[in-house]
Amino acid sequence: MLIGGVKSIGGQVSKFGGVQNHHTLDSQFWGTKLPNKVKLCVWKALKGFFPIRSRLLSRLVDVPVHCGLCQQDSKVDEHLFRDCVVSRRILTPLLGQLAQQQLPFPAWLKLCMGVLSSHKRSELLVLLWSIWKARNDKVWHDKACDHLKVIVRAHLWLQNYLQVNRPPVQIGRQRSKWMKP
Ligand SMILES: [Zn+2]
Repeated sequence: MLIGGVKSIGGQVSKFGGVQNHHTLDSQFWGTKLPNKVKLCVWKALKGFFPIRSRLLSRLVDVPVHCGLCQQDSKVDEHLFRDCVVSRRILTPLLGQLAQQQLPFPAWLKLCMGVLSSHKRSELLVLLWSIWKARNDKVWHDKACDHLKVIVRAHLWLQNYLQVNRPPVQIGRQRSKWMKP
């Protein structure tokens, strides 16, 4: 079976470099080596905890329904983190056809996490976090969102984070071999 051009048979190496498996989303998600601020941001989106406009409207809070990034009407969570034209430009270089999948956000993220390599899983979570930050910059500070800048900054941020947090190099003791006098 093909999902977005990716084989969904367990145990096979996908074109994204990840070995598909049946790990739960939680274990793949929380096992990613990223700071909690990144994981908590995406986790809130997964659980529907963000006070985005659609949710505020459902609670009868009177707010505009347009997306903070593209100004289109948006009433579903998937819009901001995947279907928004700006978000799709940010995600497509990493995800290809997966960025077009029309699934509920948790199911979509599980699909992505299942086929991506460990490093690309980290990239995806950092990009989703960056989308949320870009949205806030636009909504609260009226900063224009350039999708290429978001991608480059997210890439540099991840590289820097990995560089600073790489495990210490184990330097083994070099013992000189005893030689007969
Ligand atoms: Zn949008």
